[in-house]
Amino acid sequence: MANTANAHWRSNIVVPTAESVKDSSNDTTKANGKTALADKLAHERNVKEVALGDLLFDTWYPSWFPDEVIPDKQRGKGIVQTTMYVCKWCFAYHRDPEIWAQHYSNCPRATSGPPGTHIYHHGSSDTLSIWEVEGEVEHVFCQNLSLFAKFFLDNKSVLYDVNDFHYFLLVHTKPDGVKQIIGFFSKEKQSWDRNNLACILVFPPWQRKGLGSLLIAVSYEIGRREDALVGRVDPVSGPEKPISNLGKKSYERYWSAEIARYLLNIEETDCKNNTGFITVEMISRETWIAPDDCLAVLREMGGVERVLKGKGKKGKAVKADKQEEPVEQLDKGFIREWVNRQGLDSYPSVDVDGFVGRYRSQETIEGVEVAA
Ligand SMILES: [Zn+2]
Repeated sequence: MANTANAHWRSNIVVPTAESVKDSSNDTTKANGKTALADKLAHERNVKEVALGDLLFDTWYPSWFPDEVIPDKQRGKGIVQTTMYVCKWCFAYHRDPEIWAQHYSNCPRATSGPPGTHIYHHGSSDTLSIWEVEGEVEHVFCQNLSLFAKFFLDNKSVLYDVNDFHYFLLVHTKPDGVKQIIGFFSKEKQSWDRNNLACILVFPPWQRKGLGSLLIAVSYEIGRREDALVGRVDPVSGPEKPISNLGKKSYERYWSAEIARYLLNIEETDCKNNTGFITVEMISRETWIAPDDCLAVLREMGGVERVLKGKGKKGKAVKADKQEEPVEQLDKGFIREWVNRQGLDSYPSVDVDGFVGRYRSQETIEGVEVAA
């Protein structure tokens, strides 16, 4: 049944390509060719705004609804629907506000809460939590969530077969106990590239609160705990590439905050006595951030000074690679200043005691306990 419904959904979704719509905009085809047309279709909005419950906000990108909702022949013709009405509980959508209102006032998710399993609560207040949903089990919910998310993601993979993904929902609980999904990330069930995240989105009304960083932090911690269970000690490779510009900024801030936090909390390196050196691989293993990403952040920090081992002053000395020389040296005071300048001092980090259920692992990595 699930596969039938999914196949039906997939057969009704048409991801635009230059080939599929080459007759719909001859001018563009002539002027810029098929690639430009595909690019235009990938970016040109087809719906102006979204009503999510009682919140109304503009879309950023097109979403690709089934033909009966937005006819295929209207693709490439700009905005063809002013408002798409979306249920804030289950993400069911409708063009007609009256039909949508009938659903909204009777949606079973309004009282049952989010689907899936509660896996994490952030801090002691329980206002932020994360729920894991299997795409295969809740395929209609995940498809609807994907269509809504596509309005804000410049990424085709958000619409790939939901059966192959887990979805991690960020849920805000109000004082009256009402739960609202405010963002999510998805993760491939089996990633051959060891990606720990496929798509990430904090919905526009809840952006600029550091919540993207929290989702990223949770994705890394989940990757670390899953790997610990099977004895892997090499870090995940990170998010699926390419990352959107918005996602890239969130990742750079997360990586910077985590690496700076680690560097500020370890012992000083004594270059003169040749003790306390750390390597990029060590930073990577402790933060679970891929070595290339660690190195990029260290260089982005600036103030990384190449010195010959034994001739530097006391500070954070980081080996650029496994060679004995040269090393790259970071000054701890400089890192502290850099953190303040970037506003990373109060950046949220994952609460390692906040995991419940299958992620509350007692496993260890090289003797270091990773969970309470
Ligand atoms: Zn609903």
